[in-house]
Amino acid sequence: MSNQLQQPVTTLKGIGAERAIDLASLDIHTVQDLLEHFPYRYEDYRVRDLSEAEDGEKITIVGTVYGEPVVRFYGKKKSRLTVKIVVNRVVVTAIWFNRQFLKQQLRAGREIMLSGKFERARLQMTVSEHHFLDTDKKTPQEGSIQPVYSTNANIQVKQIRRWVADALKDYGDKVEEILPAYLVQKYKLAPRAEAIRNIHFPESVLGGKQGRRRLAFEELFLFQLKLQAYHAVNRRTSDGMAQSILLPQVKEFIHSLPFPLTGAQERVVKEILGDMQAGYRMNRLLQGDVGSGKTVVAAIALYATITAGYQGALMVPTEILAEQHYTTLQELLTPHGIELAILSGSATTRQRRDILAGLQSGLIHIVVGTHALIQEDVYFRNLGLVITDEQHRFGVEQRRILREKGLHPDVLFMTATPIPRTLAITAFGDMDVSTIDELPAGRKPVETYWVKHDMLDRILAFINKELGKGRQAYVISPLIEESEKLDLQNAMDVHAQLSHYFAGKYNVGLMHGRLPSKEKDEVMQRFSSGEVQILVSTTVVEVGVNVPNASVMVIYDAERFGLAQLHQLRGRVGRGAEQSYCILIADPKSEVGKERMRIMTETNDGFEVARRDLELRGPGDFFGTKQSGLPEFKIADVVQDYRMLEVARQEAADLISHPSFWVGPEYAPLRHYLKRDEYFLEKIKD
Ligand code: ADP
Ligand code: MG
Repeated sequence: MSNQLQQPVTTLKGIGAERAIDLASLDIHTVQDLLEHFPYRYEDYRVRDLSEAEDGEKITIVGTVYGEPVVRFYGKKKSRLTVKIVVNRVVVTAIWFNRQFLKQQLRAGREIMLSGKFERARLQMTVSEHHFLDTDKKTPQEGSIQPVYSTNANIQVKQIRRWVADALKDYGDKVEEILPAYLVQKYKLAPRAEAIRNIHFPESVLGGKQGRRRLAFEELFLFQLKLQAYHAVNRRTSDGMAQSILLPQVKEFIHSLPFPLTGAQERVVKEILGDMQAGYRMNRLLQGDVGSGKTVVAAIALYATITAGYQGALMVPTEILAEQHYTTLQELLTPHGIELAILSGSATTRQRRDILAGLQSGLIHIVVGTHALIQEDVYFRNLGLVITDEQHRFGVEQRRILREKGLHPDVLFMTATPIPRTLAITAFGDMDVSTIDELPAGRKPVETYWVKHDMLDRILAFINKELGKGRQAYVISPLIEESEKLDLQNAMDVHAQLSHYFAGKYNVGLMHGRLPSKEKDEVMQRFSSGEVQILVSTTVVEVGVNVPNASVMVIYDAERFGLAQLHQLRGRVGRGAEQSYCILIADPKSEVGKERMRIMTETNDGFEVARRDLELRGPGDFFGTKQSGLPEFKIADVVQDYRMLEVARQEAADLISHPSFWVGPEYAPLRHYLKRDEYFLEKIKD
């Protein structure tokens, strides 16, 4: 970037020390910052044809004053001034509030330009801005499109407009290109200087669009470049270990499984083992739809690390899930002489002490537990692989803890929910991603129905029929997010109701988050074994729980759940060979709520559900929190611009993999850009 653009904003007319402080609060310090403070929308002052204007739209019109203005006073010192204006033979009533002094100026026959909100039905406009065309000097806003900027209490948007205009006049041609020439050509991008001019003050609609397109591409490209540079540099310099996995033994283990792997499972296993064998540290995300068989893949990776002489840890978000995974892994791994342990809250002090000793000595090969696992006084002899559930991100802090224990294990993240690709490559762009995009053969899609509350009798009859065939059912009780206590009350009510209905015929169990872990185990155990046929539960069974004989999932008040959660809950059934059913009981009030129910009944594919969910909610809300790791883009929109995102990502990858990127003079601006990030400061040459 040119040095001149790095000058402080005070070099601009009208910006003194005080203004500079106000601007600093908007993170604007230099001329460049000001030029890169892009408008978030525009005011359109171009004169419009009335017949094209929509109701409620803010428009600009030109007409002639006709008849006498009328002023009405009301309240304390409030007034309403109206006058008729003829616009192309149509009579529009113009309204001003508290501007009674305009009355004298509104003489019949004067030509006037008005901007304001238009009410179609009554042919009325509430005027926010007016100009008399016979006397007013042309203002810069007339007939143009004007930018609107985010600002603070001390600075008016009009001032920013003026400063930006001044900055463009003095420095506009000093703006330098940052993208390599081949990309500008290949995608017919507007040059940077032109784009910046056009994003503030579009010469035309097309010019504005091209400016936006260019800057959005730049933003996505630079973002992807940084992620991938991080990834590439990390691979060169990281302190990982090359695990000497005994492949023939791993193959034997895979053959011993009760089923052949799907093609997708085979592929991701290969990707994961490849990382573990390589000298860099694995940083990989494993995603797949519910029931796609991620657990088996995890078991294979854990087995592999043991053949290389290391230990493994599996961390999950809840104790129920820890129990579940522990049981599954035990079934798969114990026959191969592997020692497993579970560190849970219900362990006695003595059990705990034994487990900790076993991990430290290396007698225990694999430990399963919640995320607290690595944070406590747990020491491993030789930890090679950590698998963690993505529900809580395995963050910088956890890595630090491991490092301080002298551990540099490979890390595999599993997500319980499919993530739409555009989000995966933005939020997890610095990771490698393995995707299981295939379900085991013979699975029947779950049939999903959306019903109203008044059909409860029929639903109960339906459950009765399925249980009669020897199946089992989950009933998820209403969720009241504000209060865990109320959730529990609801679950208890539903439990009482169903126990009464099925009395003497079937056993109904109750599961909720407040049960002590010992009792949770017992309830789960009795449901797994088939002793309990109906499990009433809060959403604690959401992820991971695996009881293949269950074929019915009933969800009360389904409109209160998010799509991802509904899909997870539905994923508890359809795990065996039998036809399974999911019944959503919901009376959604909003259109979005209805759409969510429709999506559930229309598709079984988690990636498709996720994609449509993203469309409904937008990227910010998708993960449910702002700390999702999703960057906030100034111009680009990862949902709308997803094609551009894909292209930008591919181009960034191609460029990074090219050796000349790290040395070529034509890429110096990009390397400089990267070096604004401390991480790259020492690692990249100028
Ligand atoms: P996920 O964790 O991805 O939701 P699981 O790992 O719990 O899925 O697997 C769901 C069910 O499918 C389990 O009962 C598992 O034993 C079974 N399964 C996994 N892989 C296969 C396969 N290749 N063929 C048949 N069944 C499989
Ligand atoms: Mg490795």
